[in-house]
Amino acid sequence: MLFFYGLRNKVTKVIPLQSSHIQCQHCHTANINMNIVGRYAYFFWIPMFSVGKTGAAHCQHCQQVLNKHQFTSQLHQAYDQLKMNAKNPIWFNIGGIIIAILLIIPWLISFINMAFK
Ligand SMILES: [Zn+2]
Repeated sequence: MLFFYGLRNKVTKVIPLQSSHIQCQHCHTANINMNIVGRYAYFFWIPMFSVGKTGAAHCQHCQQVLNKHQFTSQLHQAYDQLKMNAKNPIWFNIGGIIIAILLIIPWLISFINMAFK
C-alpha cells in the first residue's frame, strides 16, 4: 500500500525588524523581515499535528534569505523574542483533532449506553 506522508513548512508570520542595528550581512541595509515558519506532519496531504517552529531572515533589498543556523547573534535574539509570540495555526493539528473526535465519540456512546441501562 502506498502512503504519502512527511513534514511540511509554512510561513505563519512575517515581522519586519525595526531595529537599525540589525543589518543584512550582504548589502548592509536594515530592511530585514523575520519569517516565522511553522512545521507540521501530514498524511495524504492532511495536516496531522504541529512539530514546532523555525525561522528565516529575509532581506527586502537584496532578497538574501538566512536560515536559522546562519543567524548572527542579533538575529538569534530577535528570533527568540518573536518566536514566543507566534503560535502555529490550529489547522496544523486538524487531522489529529478529527482522529481524537472519532475515538471519543464511540467511547461516549458506549458510556451513555452503560449509564442509562
Ligand atoms: Zn540585503
